[in-house]
Amino acid sequence: MNITFLGATKTVTGSNILIETKTKKFIMDCGLYQGQQKETMLNSEDFLFNPKDIDFVLLSHAHIDHSGRIPKLYVDGFRGPVYATKATCDLCSIMLPDSGYIQEAEIEWLNRKRKREGKHELPPLYTYNDAIDSLALFESVQYGEIFQIDSNIKVRFTDAGHMLGSSLIEVWVIEDGKEQKIVFTGDLGNNDIPLLREPSKIDDADILIMESTYGNRIHENNGDKAREFLDVVSTTLERGGNVIIPSFAVGRTQEILYEIQKSKQSDDENFKKEFDEIMNAKVYVDSPLATSATEVFLKNLDCLDEEVQEDIREGKKPLDFNGLRFTQSVDESKELNMTANQSIIISASGMCEVGRIKHHLKHNLWRKDSTILFVGYQAVGTLGRKIVDGAKKVKIFGEEISVNADVRYIEAFSGHADRNGLLAFVDSFKSKPKQIYLVHGDEEAQSCLSDELEHKFGIPVGIPSFGDVYEIDIDRIRKTAELHSPNENKYIRLEVIEKMQTLREELEDMTAIVSEDLKQETTDEKVNELMSKLKSLELQIVDILK
Ligand SMILES: [Zn+2]
Repeated sequence: MNITFLGATKTVTGSNILIETKTKKFIMDCGLYQGQQKETMLNSEDFLFNPKDIDFVLLSHAHIDHSGRIPKLYVDGFRGPVYATKATCDLCSIMLPDSGYIQEAEIEWLNRKRKREGKHELPPLYTYNDAIDSLALFESVQYGEIFQIDSNIKVRFTDAGHMLGSSLIEVWVIEDGKEQKIVFTGDLGNNDIPLLREPSKIDDADILIMESTYGNRIHENNGDKAREFLDVVSTTLERGGNVIIPSFAVGRTQEILYEIQKSKQSDDENFKKEFDEIMNAKVYVDSPLATSATEVFLKNLDCLDEEVQEDIREGKKPLDFNGLRFTQSVDESKELNMTANQSIIISASGMCEVGRIKHHLKHNLWRKDSTILFVGYQAVGTLGRKIVDGAKKVKIFGEEISVNADVRYIEAFSGHADRNGLLAFVDSFKSKPKQIYLVHGDEEAQSCLSDELEHKFGIPVGIPSFGDVYEIDIDRIRKTAELHSPNENKYIRLEVIEKMQTLREELEDMTAIVSEDLKQETTDEKVNELMSKLKSLELQIVDILK
């Protein structure tokens, strides 16, 4: 059997692994590349296999970096089944069409620009309708149930504890009368994510393909985060402001709702007195995607952890409480912009690049009494990152808005196991894997984790590059080929353009900061220091231009 790594190699998006046995060809995950321009360009590349030849897909979970190229696979001719848990199917049925809509909107914007430049228009990666059509291929499977693909291949999904419906995938393959087992972690969860169960344990594997996002990091203790969240929210409500929470629609939004629900339903008299603003606060979820995702959670309560099951037995309704409202129409959202006071508003997108959150920022960033509360990672270059990094002014819909609100960042519960979690996962195998491959991590995290794994367990660890093909034999594993994408060379140029854009934005931010200081609050000494640094930068730029 051959394993070819075709995505999330030495990076954290674009998950895609091709497996070719003597009887079947299948892929595990088919995700979008996300983030910087260089990476997203990879999405429109042709697959290095013929999608028509693929017999089936095993999908670990609904996150777009794992599922987002399934509609493209469909457009390019794939018509086999996509096996995933029911919750993953439900989530994909809202997330993939949303992704199709975004693809259409992004290409429209790009094409307007291309038209002005006299260039031909480009088609979207896939459309909303393509995504809807691809959903017909999804077939749901039960956690824990072994199902037979044919007489030589069987598969089992178990809970990965990373997001609703997320799975570890075990695949048994018989070739020449010998059985080998591959285990793919997808994304491996944490032990203490609100609402979700702990990751399942796996008994054995020949080949383990493991994520490594936090291969070189240990998460902080989660204990104080909930308390910090309540403090920030209640202080803001007390002074009459709004709490604006830019949140990821799936997962993070439901965790926040659960946190507020637990507070609102507390029987502790002292707690109720201390946080009486929260007890009475109005809470709005102003994002159609977040609203639909919450409905999917409510349809899949059996996937949630013991704490939630206990609530249900006590007759409590999960993710529901007094004062909670889901706004649907644009008019409702606009009305909220104008009238909200002493309210908690949860809106998407999480990094403030698109969506209704931008309107809420426009109406609240300038207000001294409001708080912008970030609960998730903000990528470089996004509006969210600029605000978190302390920009004094930001541009929203072409209008310059002063940042007077209190800006807070509470690192939320990470959906990924940290280094210790990843090591513990390998340790929990009763019979250890013969070979580990690391995917879904940057190079530093991967080399760190690889050293630890080899040192601790003596298991050989491979860090595949894009296109690496490994031939897996029962007692022999060797790399047999390196496939290359025909467009590799242009990426280095895109990377340069991206660096320049980032530098330009940083300079704009610096300009804004210095303009603010025309009242001369900073010492002349500091300003002179800045001046000499700028002069040396100027010389370097002159040098580069040469
Ligand atoms: Zn994920």
